[in-house]
Amino acid sequence: SEELIRRSEKLSLVGELAAGIAHEIRNPLTSLRGFMQMYVKEDMDGTKKLRNEVMLSEIDRINEIVSELLVLAKPSNEAFELRDLVHILNHVTRLFEGQANLHNVQIKIELDDNLSFIQCQRSINQVFINVLKNAIESMPKGGEVSIKAKQMNDRICIRIKDKGYGIPQEEITKIGNPFFTTKETGTGLGLMVSMRIIQNHNGTLRIESEVGKGTMVEVVLPIVR
Ligand code: ADP
Ligand code: MG
Repeated sequence: SEELIRRSEKLSLVGELAAGIAHEIRNPLTSLRGFMQMYVKEDMDGTKKLRNEVMLSEIDRINEIVSELLVLAKPSNEAFELRDLVHILNHVTRLFEGQANLHNVQIKIELDDNLSFIQCQRSINQVFINVLKNAIESMPKGGEVSIKAKQMNDRICIRIKDKGYGIPQEEITKIGNPFFTTKETGTGLGLMVSMRIIQNHNGTLRIESEVGKGTMVEVVLPIVR
């Protein structure tokens, strides 16, 4: 629809701008962090030490935001290669083993046999990283995440489902807006970046959620772009 198109145009403008700024911020930030770290002395008293740690962690937070914005710079010019989704999904799941264990989250992965390789960019990994991260974060007391993938003719459908706190109806439309977050230390960039990457693959992202029951994020990607 027209509204959807306008939204995606706006999204890509914001994306380009953000990526440009992110590039400019990264270098001074790296040098700032380096000097800050040199400044930390072993014999600092409690207050000074604390301030220093706060400063370092604030720099790290800016760095985290900048890194997410930088992903937006890549999608348009990164090469498309034939890659194995089974490999990608297993790899991403492995990245989260530590965090999942720590939070009592079990990740179940059920992939159809004989999935075709798909034409995609490396940044597709980031989509599954962002979605899986949200799923784990939605279950602070632990629970189960399931990852399923099946082929439907010329497309592959990937569903990541959690049994977490869910998303209220009125918030679903805000998801993917830059900086929309309900988390204390969230950046509100994960799904915006993911939507941009998926758009670049001519794919779709759909969210179904029920408060208190959980959330299902469905990503559909064409095998050939
Ligand atoms: P962030 O995780 O930094 O907040 P995201 O773009 O990844 O940013 O997500 C935006 C918001 O969408 C989250 O703050 C949260 O409110 C909601 N959300 C996304 N995924 C889930 C999920 N699986 N369960 C519950 N809420 C979610
Ligand atoms: Mg997130």
